[in-house]
Amino acid sequence: MASQQSSIIKHDRSRWLTMVLASSGVGLLYLAAAQISTLTIIDATITEIWLPAGVALAAAILYGRQALLGVGLAAALAAWFGIGQAPADPFVSLLIGLAAVAQAGVGALVLQRLTTQPEHAFERARDAVIFIAAGAIGAGLIGALVATVSGAQSNQFAITWLANIIGVLIVAPPILIWRRRPTFQLRQGLEALAILAAMGLIAFLMLNTGYPIDYVLLLILAATAFRLGQHGVSILIPLVAGVVTAGVLQGRSTFLVGTITETVLLVQMFVLIVCAAPYVLAAVIGERQAARIALEQINRTLEQRVQERTQELVAAREAAEAANIAKSQFLATMSHELRTPLNAIIGYADIMLQGMVGDLQPRQREFQERSMANAEHLLGLINNVLDIARIEAGRTEIIKKPFAPSALLASIERQMVVLAQDKGLQLETQLDPELPSSLVGDTERLRQIIINLVGNGIKFTDKGQVRLALKQLSSERWAIEVSDTGVGIPPHAQETIFDEFRQVTSTSDRQHGGTGLGLAIVRNLTLMMGGTIRVKSQLGEGSTFTVTLPSLTEGDAMMSRSGES
Ligand code: ADP
Repeated sequence: MASQQSSIIKHDRSRWLTMVLASSGVGLLYLAAAQISTLTIIDATITEIWLPAGVALAAAILYGRQALLGVGLAAALAAWFGIGQAPADPFVSLLIGLAAVAQAGVGALVLQRLTTQPEHAFERARDAVIFIAAGAIGAGLIGALVATVSGAQSNQFAITWLANIIGVLIVAPPILIWRRRPTFQLRQGLEALAILAAMGLIAFLMLNTGYPIDYVLLLILAATAFRLGQHGVSILIPLVAGVVTAGVLQGRSTFLVGTITETVLLVQMFVLIVCAAPYVLAAVIGERQAARIALEQINRTLEQRVQERTQELVAAREAAEAANIAKSQFLATMSHELRTPLNAIIGYADIMLQGMVGDLQPRQREFQERSMANAEHLLGLINNVLDIARIEAGRTEIIKKPFAPSALLASIERQMVVLAQDKGLQLETQLDPELPSSLVGDTERLRQIIINLVGNGIKFTDKGQVRLALKQLSSERWAIEVSDTGVGIPPHAQETIFDEFRQVTSTSDRQHGGTGLGLAIVRNLTLMMGGTIRVKSQLGEGSTFTVTLPSLTEGDAMMSRSGES
């Protein structure tokens, strides 16, 4: 208990000690600033710049209430002893002290509310403007009002107010800005030297020759804002203010016009601009630089990401290409490996059926014929599967060459008529006299299309006929038309039969055989040739398949691959 109490006392003591130390430090600085301000007394008691206002605000921002006691005491003392002003009586001095406390306290409070962080107000243009408007112009009003009303300052209110504002802007910003270490490089050091040299030259010319070149100082400040940022600006502003004031005091200034009050107001307005504009400019530039750096960082990240993604894509593409090559090789191998033994089976069965190895018993012949039929069926299936795979892999070529439609028609009739007759069907062919005697196209693929369609017609027709017609549609299009008087296709299936492995009903088709790949191959080949396919059908009455193709000329004769459009 006792130790706790003693620690509280110790704590209280240390708080008091900090307050006394902070207040006396701030107070001493305040008095020193007041003493320096006397250098800007232009006539009798007219002080152009009241530096203590800046010390008070900076102290209030950085140390809060602890510093305000020192500000109040020092302000009262300065008024009583007449430092930078006419000496005042104790009561007025007390008022002045309170006004200084109010000005700094209110200024710090308002900045706390309105800016992101008063200590860093000059890093953002918006905060810098608020600092100038609220911290300097707004709060400066308090001191100026009290000083004028109490009669401590007999001068015009405007001059006292401006002196307060300028005082704040000359002292407070450098204190806040230099708490952050500058990041000067050698090049900027050299630029700083050049700027100082130019500044020295202008000061020399102004003070020694009386050339009216005060405004050139604004250019130097702008250059400083661009090249050296807030740190450079905060050093140069007090120097410029000093040079301008010295010019007035030496009687060599652009502003020496009219009455002394007018001159002081003119100088103050100029110095106010000198104190305010470069800070805002430097803040804008600083923000832009920060934004540019952030943007560059984002760009770098993005570039890196794009590179990573590109690498991933390249890897994925390489993997896909490798898989594709493997698939093609597999297909080629399968095509060979499956067809070779099948061809051998068919060949040996054929030899036996022809009686080349002795006569067969009727039952042996029947079984041999079934083996043969099944092997041929299997070969057809394998061919179909390989065909569709090859089309999808983009490995099917369309070779466009001139051919005679009549010859194509005759050769297909020869090939298919036996199949039709076997089922007791009539195979009718028709060649449109309008059709040119020579067309351009891939005869092998056209034959594949027609045989598939006619084969289906025969397969799905039990009585009647299958008709194959080649027709001229217009000067640009011709058509292959295959119609039958078979079972027909229900409307719901007329779209899907062109998809792979699609059959109308699995039962009826099992009875007819097939895989559901024929029409998929036909449609793919038709599309590759730039044509279209459609079906018209009535259940129980028959179906008509029409393949429409472009009429090509000899000039179109060339080669194209599936997958190209
Ligand atoms: P597959 O004939 O090998 O089964 P297709 O792709 O050639 O395969 O035909 C798909 C399905 O379309 C057939 O199973 C059949 O149901 C139907 N189909 C095709 N052509 C005809 C036709 N001419 N008449 C009736 N149905 C047909």
